[in-house]
Amino acid sequence: MNMKHGHRWCVTIVMLALLTSIWLSGCRSATPTTISTVTTPETSEPLQTPELPNGKKETPRSSENPQVPDLNQETEPIPEPETAPEPETESLPEQNAEHTPSVYADESDNSPAPTPPIDRPQTPIHPYYDLSGTPPSAPGLAMRVRAFSAEPQKIVYLTFDDGPYPQTTPRILKILQDEGVKATFFVVGKQVERYPDLLKAEYEQGEGIGNHSYSHDNQLVYRSPEAFLAEIKKNEELIFKVIGIRPKVVRAPGGTQGHFHVSYYNAVDAADYLVYDWNVSSGDAEASLVPADTLLQNIQIQVPGKDRIVLLMHDAGAKVTTVDALPQIIKYLKQKGYSFGVITPKVAPILFPGGFRS
Ligand SMILES: [Zn+2]
Repeated sequence: MNMKHGHRWCVTIVMLALLTSIWLSGCRSATPTTISTVTTPETSEPLQTPELPNGKKETPRSSENPQVPDLNQETEPIPEPETAPEPETESLPEQNAEHTPSVYADESDNSPAPTPPIDRPQTPIHPYYDLSGTPPSAPGLAMRVRAFSAEPQKIVYLTFDDGPYPQTTPRILKILQDEGVKATFFVVGKQVERYPDLLKAEYEQGEGIGNHSYSHDNQLVYRSPEAFLAEIKKNEELIFKVIGIRPKVVRAPGGTQGHFHVSYYNAVDAADYLVYDWNVSSGDAEASLVPADTLLQNIQIQVPGKDRIVLLMHDAGAKVTTVDALPQIIKYLKQKGYSFGVITPKVAPILFPGGFRS
C-alpha cells in the first residue's frame, strides 16, 4: 500500500510537474507572442513617437533654447534703443514729424518726464523775442514787434553753418531727404561763390537758407555794426543771384555772445533781419574731428527739458563725423517726439544771453 501509494504519488507528482512545465512553457510561448503582437504596434508607435518627437522636440527644444537667448537678445536690444534707437523710432516719429507732431509730442512729453537726466545746466537763453512777438527791452534797444507762427509743442530746427562744401553738403541733403526732415543752412558768401550749385540744391530741396556773412572773418565782420551789415548784404547779393531770394534770417559767425551789443541789434533790426543763436550744440566745432558718437551724446545731454531747439551743426567739408552722426541724431530727435522746422522770420529766435550790453 505504501509502495503503491508512494509510487502513485510519485507518478502524480511527476505528471503534475510535467503538466506544470508544459503549461508554463505554453504560457511563456503564448505571452511573448501576444506581447509581441501587441507590443510591436505599441512599441512601434511609442518607439517612433519617442524617436521622432524626441528627435524633433529635442531639436526644437535645443532650438528653443537658442530661442530663449534669442528672446534675451531681443530684450537686450530694447535697452539698446534707449541709447541708439533705430527700428522702433523710424516709423512712428516719421509720422510724428510729418503729420501730427503735437499728438506724439504729448506722448513723448510723458516719456522725458520720468527720465530727466539733465547733467549739464541748460544753455541759458536771453529773453529775446517772446513767442507772441514782443521785442526785448534794454537800455538803448529799439526793435520792432514781430509776429511768429504757431509751432508744434516740441520742435527742433537743425542748422548747418559755414557751407556749402562738396564733401559734406550733398551727403547732408541726402540724409535729410531720406529721413524726411528739413534743416536750415546758414551759408557763407565765399562758399556760395565757389559752389553755387550746392546752394541751389539746398534751396530746391526745400531747406531753409540763412545768411552767415560773406567772409566769416571775425576781424572783418565785427569791426562795427555797419561792417557786420555790409558782410550780410554782400552775401545776400550772392545768394540772390543763385536762388533769387534774400534770406532775412541771420546767424552771427561764432554766435552773438561776445560779438553783439545793442548797436548791432538795432542795426540788424533796422535792416529787417533776425539773428538766431542756438540752445543745443553738437559740439562739432570743439575739435577738428569729434567722433560721431560724441556728437550724438553731446546732443542727448542737452535736449531733455527743451521744447524749442535750435541745434548747431556744421556743413564744413572736414566735418565728416557730423554727417556720420546725422542719421542717429535725427532718429533720436524723432524718438523724443520733435517736429523738424525750417527757420524763417516767422520763427521766434533763440539767443544767447548777454547780447544787450552797450
Ligand atoms: Zn560759422
